Amino acid sequence: MAISNNIRPGRHFLQIPGPTNVPDRVLRAMDYPTIDHRGPDFAELGLRVLERIKLIFKTSEPVIIFPASGTGAWEAALVNTLSAGDKILMFETGHFSTLWWDIAQKFKIEVDFVQGDWRTGVDPNIVEQKLKEDKDKKIKAVCAVHNETSTGVTSRIGEIRKAMDNAEHPALLFVDTISSLGSIDYRHEEWKVDVTVGGSQKGLLLPPGLSFNAISSKALEAYKTSELPKSYWDWGPMLENNKKGYFPYTPATNLFYGLDEAINMLTEEGLDNVFKRHKRFAEATRVAVNSWGLEILCKNPEEYSDSLTAVMVPDGHDADFLRKTILDHYNMSLGTGLAKVAGKIFRIGHLGDFNELMLAGTLAGVEMGLMKSKIPYNKGGILKALEYLC
Ligand SMILES: *Cc1c(COP(=O)(O)O)cnc(C)c1O
Repeated sequence: MAISNNIRPGRHFLQIPGPTNVPDRVLRAMDYPTIDHRGPDFAELGLRVLERIKLIFKTSEPVIIFPASGTGAWEAALVNTLSAGDKILMFETGHFSTLWWDIAQKFKIEVDFVQGDWRTGVDPNIVEQKLKEDKDKKIKAVCAVHNETSTGVTSRIGEIRKAMDNAEHPALLFVDTISSLGSIDYRHEEWKVDVTVGGSQKGLLLPPGLSFNAISSKALEAYKTSELPKSYWDWGPMLENNKKGYFPYTPATNLFYGLDEAINMLTEEGLDNVFKRHKRFAEATRVAVNSWGLEILCKNPEEYSDSLTAVMVPDGHDADFLRKTILDHYNMSLGTGLAKVAGKIFRIGHLGDFNELMLAGTLAGVEMGLMKSKIPYNKGGILKALEYLC
């Protein structure tokens, strides 16, 4: 392999909004021999993890774990509950909601895709209105991305649930929590979500490779009549095998060791404290961005994301040039602008295993990058953020 000339001493700052920095405790937990996934030791681990992961989703109902990226769990949510020709309601909150829509279309699901401006979340009033208009109750599911990672906008799932209840509509509710689980308050059971989609590599403190479907009994009812083809993603054999701690195919054994430890870490800190920590760091980041005189992509303060901040660069400047400058000179990766917002924004990830000094380093890197790449800004945003934290 060619060796790069870019020698970068010290620790790399991985401040993209996922994958996130994997804590040493989790890395060490995974550094352990892979065991027989049909043997008794695995069953014990499997049962323990399948039970305890429910705490993170705030549910008492089953959580299915796939050895797959989050995208797989999106597909699983659809193919296990729907049939070709079914109608569903989706919202264009950004790149990730658009990708989910793509999958639905490939399965010949009929999607009412409500257009959006990539700066706001799902509007609960539109949910209510659309469901009330659906007199024959043809809409089978409402799909929402909780935290739109491409824009840094968090939709209010509790309010979407209320809107669905107000409309007295029986549609299922599917929510993507890939970049909010374990970093932003989320309540699968209380909000009566039918399928929650999750992934391992963001707030869950793990490397990529696991994804999740937390399911409700209503979703399981829908499974019984769903006709979309499913094999790898089929919930049936999963739930059957999971009863004894096993899987229908080889699970990602070492990621399970890591997940067990990640759940230890999240529960030791306490989920509510985890959420408060994320909120505080997000607020400090916004203090810095505002003080730099740059604009946050998210329009409504009540929808600000606590796991990442998407920042607009002034017209005539290239956000990817800024990102490249920061990587080349200060060894930090920031998130790129995806699709419609490519080159216009950069994204600061502030989620996962993260503390004050990591945030200070991150903001220092951004401020130095702004200086170096000659983007107009007001100096000292980092100091304002540090004051906020003290
Ligand atoms: C990262 C992410 C995805 C995609 O997950 P993969 O693991 O890359 O398949 C989907 N939705 C959201 C909200 C994400 O943040």
